[in-house]
Amino acid sequence: MTNIGFIGLGNMGGPMAANLVKAGHRVTGFDLSAASCEAARANGVAIAADAPAAVADAQVVVTMLPAGKHVTSVFAEILPAMQAGALVIDCSTIDVDSARKAHALAAEKGCLSLDAPVSGGVGGAQGATLTFMAGGAAEAFAKAEPILLQMGRKAVHCGEAGAGQAAKICNNMILGISMIGVAEAFVLAEKLGLSHQALFDVASTSSGQCWSLTTYCPVPGPVPTSPANNEYKPGFAAELMVKDLALAQEASQANGATTPLGEHARAIYERFAQSGNDGVDFSGIVRYLREGRD
Ligand code: NAD
Repeated sequence: MTNIGFIGLGNMGGPMAANLVKAGHRVTGFDLSAASCEAARANGVAIAADAPAAVADAQVVVTMLPAGKHVTSVFAEILPAMQAGALVIDCSTIDVDSARKAHALAAEKGCLSLDAPVSGGVGGAQGATLTFMAGGAAEAFAKAEPILLQMGRKAVHCGEAGAGQAAKICNNMILGISMIGVAEAFVLAEKLGLSHQALFDVASTSSGQCWSLTTYCPVPGPVPTSPANNEYKPGFAAELMVKDLALAQEASQANGATTPLGEHARAIYERFAQSGNDGVDFSGIVRYLREGRD
């Protein structure tokens, strides 16, 4: 059993903390939202009065927060209260620069640290099937891995500080671009009188095969578990895709990478989200393209 502090008990953090309780750890959490605290308390998480109180006795601290500015400010708030030698794992999706700042703050205090963003969404958080992509020292990863594997089923050590965030934004740039590609193909197929199932049967076993088609098919029918069969309820909301594609472009510009399709996908998803679809699953982009709204 490990004493774990958990800061940020929202849609992702709440079920992740609950899984750590189920695994037998003593979890003490904090969130600015009283409703999130109450939901976590119902799942066995002890709720502290503030973030420093949640981490004071912890050997391991997990943070799951909206963006880089929240992570660096929470790190600055909690690190003075943490025990030297403790490990802090940030699972939020944030920009690489903020992730590196957070690592530096932890190092100043003599704490181990890991950036470990996730893939798998709320379903993965609830079912403990997340994939973690981690950046930081080998010692930090070795200490974190058993805990990560109680919240997910895979943890990949991608490299030094910030490497987890780098892997996450590169992966999600592929995802955003590929989903638009698959959606465009279905829209064209409809105009050509080709059925969804026929395109699926061919492309899923041909060179068009990809996750956006075979696991997360954006039209109802071929993949019964995809959000297309459930009114495009997320899943992975369009606003989060916009966030990740914007992080990818920020990193591209800062590091001189040429990513024109990544920028195009960001702009398309931004217009989609801003037209009343921010809470719609990102595969709903197919309806927007079908209506010729881009
Ligand atoms: P969320 O908004 O539901 O939860 C974030 C929580 O952080 C909120 O409850 C908020 O009150 C809390 N918070 C903010 N500032 C705080 C502070 N200073 N102290 C304590 N609590 C604070 O968001 P989420 O969906 O749980 O996402 C969390 C992170 O995970 C984001 O970085 C997101 O990009 C990433 N992510 C989300 C998904 C998804 O499907 N939701 C998938 C992969 C990654």
